[in-house]
This record gives sequence, structure tokens and C-alpha cells, in this order.
Amino acid sequence: MKTTSLFKLFSRAVSLLLLLLLINQQTFAWSKRGHVIITRTAVKLLIDDQNVSKDLKKILLEGLGNEETAEKKLKSLKDFAVFTSESFTLEPGLDLYSFRPDELANVNSAVPSFNSDESKMHYIDLELFNPDPKKRIFLIDGSAKVKPSYIPRNKKDKRYLEAGFVTFRTEECYKQLVRSFNKATTNEEIFLWLGYLSHYLSDSYQPYHSTIDYRGIDCPGNRERKYNFHFHMESTLFNDKRPEGQQLREDFWKEFETKLNTSATLIKKQKKIDPYLQVQHALLSGYDYLPMLCRAGDAAFEKGDFNPDAWFGYSEKVNGREMTVLQLKAARMAEATLVLKTIILQAWQQSGKQRSKR
Ligand SMILES: [Zn+2]
Repeated sequence: MKTTSLFKLFSRAVSLLLLLLLINQQTFAWSKRGHVIITRTAVKLLIDDQNVSKDLKKILLEGLGNEETAEKKLKSLKDFAVFTSESFTLEPGLDLYSFRPDELANVNSAVPSFNSDESKMHYIDLELFNPDPKKRIFLIDGSAKVKPSYIPRNKKDKRYLEAGFVTFRTEECYKQLVRSFNKATTNEEIFLWLGYLSHYLSDSYQPYHSTIDYRGIDCPGNRERKYNFHFHMESTLFNDKRPEGQQLREDFWKEFETKLNTSATLIKKQKKIDPYLQVQHALLSGYDYLPMLCRAGDAAFEKGDFNPDAWFGYSEKVNGREMTVLQLKAARMAEATLVLKTIILQAWQQSGKQRSKR
């Protein structure tokens, strides 16, 4: 008897330790590789667009290195996304700046413009704006989702200090990009704001960046263990060293490319993008997938350990459309890419108007 209870105590202590480790696990939005994929793909779309000015193209290529490296990066996008699961070092310029905010979040780097720090720039815990105090938590049926009118466009609202600033931060990066296109003292400044804009905009498309339950651990499913699904939404695909992992990445790439083609016209229809509202829309639309992700988590643990194939293959109908978690990841990343492409061009055009007024 005694041995059994000692064993129970020990296993409980181990579970608790594991939970603490998981909770402390850093969360890197779309992961290093994911952010670089989005940025390079948006650049490629701009380079391939005949209506984009040569001056802008020149700056973009410079942001990816010299002419040769830039061309290589843009030609090997699929290889970069699919055929390796090894870690890589970020190169200076757009690659680095598209991930730099996560590195700064790790050290709680100060962000004086928001009287806050970098760790609060990447998301909004939308539930904190729910007028009903009982709904300031995540509920598995998604019913704690807030209306757009509950989210004030006033960065001085104290609730943002806890909830996060991604809407305002993205807007700030956009304005800084326009300003630096107009009168930067060095192109490096342009690379920084472009990379930052890419980062925060993309973060807002990650469904877990819209909720107080950002790790997906509050789903009251059948799981005994709490688990950090944020990490699996972002990093698992690009780190999976199994042959099945490569197959998943190939499937991801197919979906990503298809989505880039099919959604392009939708984005074009938008006359002018307001970065603040676009990010708000990304957060609210991402929220709709959270209940599905709860159930995908259950499926992933059905046979004991986390099973990436069951996680990415889990399928459900959301807002009238059936899709798997893998398709969801590809669709959200593709949408972020298309919006980024459009918004960079918009910033360039806006800065041109300012230049001509001078
Ligand atoms: Zn981030």
C-alpha cells in the first residue's frame, strides 16, 4: 500500500513538473521558419508583380541579401519550407527582422510607445473585453467571443496593458514603414519596419493569439494532461524529422500555394487596408477555430502520446467550410502573406504621395 501511494505521489509530482515546463515553454508565433516563409513569399509576390515599381523591388531584394542570395531565396521557397527540419540561423535584413520581435519578447524588451514591453505586442486576449465578467475566460463553445464594438480603438484603455497590443503595434509598424519609405536615413530602417510589420500582422492570424487560453490548455476534453497546443500550431510541422513529417510539409505547401492563388482576388477587392482593422478582423476570425482546435487536441492524444498526424489531420466544419488543422494553418499563413503583400505596396504608394507633396 505504502509503495503505491508513494508512487502516486511521485507520479503526481512528475506530472506537475511537466505541466510547469510546458507552461513555461516559449511560444514563437508562426515559428522562425514560418515567419521567414511569410515574409519571403510576400516579397516574391511583389517581385513577380509587373505593376510594382522597380525602386521598391530593388529595396526588397536588398533586404534579402545581395542579388544572388535574394534570387536563390525566392527560387527555393518550397525547398525551404518542405525539405528540411533542421534549425537555421537568421540572415540579416528581412529574414532577421521578421522574427526579431519574438527574440525581444523573450527578454521583455521595453516598448515605451505603449508603456509596456515586447512580450505584450504579439496578441490580444480578446475575452478581457467581454462586458460579462463571467465570460472573461475561454469557453469551449466559443461563446466568450467578443463583438468588434467591445474592443475600443484607444490604446490608452488600461485593459490593453494586460490583454496585449497587437492591433496598435501593427498599425504603428505600418506608419513607420510609410515614414521610412519616405525619408529613412538608411535602408536598414526600412528592412526593420517591413520585417516587424510582417511579424505582428502574421501573429494576428494565429488563432491562439486571440485568446486568454493561448496555449489551448483550458479545453475540458478527455485529456488528463494539460498540453501546450500553441507550440504544435506553430513549430511542430517544421521540426518534424519523421518521413511522415516531410509528407505533412508537402501537403502544407500544396495547400499554401492553392490558397495564395484562390484568395488573391478577395484581397484585391479591398480598396484600402486599415492595418488596425485588418488585424482586428484576423483575431476575430481566428477565434472561430478555437473550439475545433480543442477537439483536434483530443484527437491528437487519443492513443497516448501526442500524434502530429492525428492533430494536423483532424477535420471539422467551421463557418460552413470543412477543413483540417493542416489546411487551417496553410490558409491562415497564406492570408497573412497576401495581406502583407498588399499592405507593403499600399505603404509604398502612400509614401510616394507624401514625397510628391514636399
Ligand atoms: Zn510573435
